[in-house]
Amino acid sequence: MFATLSDRLSDTFKNLRGKGRLSEADIDATAREIRIALLEADVALPVVKQFVGAVKERARGEEVSKALNPAQQIVKIVNEELVAILGGETRRLRYAKNGPTVIMLAGLQGAGKTTLAAKLALWLKDQGKTPILVACDLQRPNAVNQLQVNGERVGVPVYAPEPGNGVGDPVAVARASIEEAKRRLHDVVIVDTAGRLGVDAELMQQAADIRDAVRPDEVLFVVDAMIGQDAVSTAQAFLDGVGYDGVVLTKLDGDARGGAALSIASITGKPVMFASNGEKLTDFDLFHPDRMASRILD
Ligand code: GDP
Repeated sequence: MFATLSDRLSDTFKNLRGKGRLSEADIDATAREIRIALLEADVALPVVKQFVGAVKERARGEEVSKALNPAQQIVKIVNEELVAILGGETRRLRYAKNGPTVIMLAGLQGAGKTTLAAKLALWLKDQGKTPILVACDLQRPNAVNQLQVNGERVGVPVYAPEPGNGVGDPVAVARASIEEAKRRLHDVVIVDTAGRLGVDAELMQQAADIRDAVRPDEVLFVVDAMIGQDAVSTAQAFLDGVGYDGVVLTKLDGDARGGAALSIASITGKPVMFASNGEKLTDFDLFHPDRMASRILD
């Protein structure tokens, strides 16, 4: 296991207790440790550089307080900066004022979209909503079936193309699902879309067409936290190709140390809104920037 940033800084500062102000050499030593810790957490290099610069700047200006030792003080600064980049407060879903709230999911195949759709539906149901799931991933052979099975598990209906009726046209399915939701008085529509194994133009166009057809209140980009550095280029490609309002990180139960969260939030400026952390349909919650900051630090 990696040494935690808190441990690293404690070592660096062993001899500094009681000093009035951090010297430039102390700050450089600190910056080095932060840099290593962030790189080990798989944070993208440009983000690391920017982050370390910001922390150095703040550390220079601050008196070392009596209450905290220098290591604790730096950890506090690092923690505050991490929380700020991760969005500060938890960003909540915005619901439509009139008619059903439409949430569209986009991301690569295997990111965990279909699983997430059911998790989100269950979570919304627990909040007193009456969601409906929409199967617009007509690319992956088993995706419709998988959504139906998961929908049944969480007790949420699934709108899917009848065999032979509109099969192959996800945009038509998406459009029709909104009418269906209105008719059946569902207040949230969750649209699952197709992913490819890698970013491609056709995938982007299809997602953009679905977006234009359903005019979602929230587009959520779903990304596997375990893909580390690749998360940044994928996040940027979806931002350019489809656009989104927030990010959902999946597979946070793996040993990813949160680098993807920090890199994506920093580079795209979009908040991480939800965290998916297991294969069970209840393994899902709002994303809490402060908890993720602790995970990166500790
Ligand atoms: P999609 O292609 O984006 O729709 O991805 P799926 O929902 O089919 O998920 C791909 C795989 O990841 C499946 O085996 C899921 O069980 C698994 N999966 C999804 N979310 C999580 C998660 O949060 N943690 C773990 N460990 N596995 C997950």
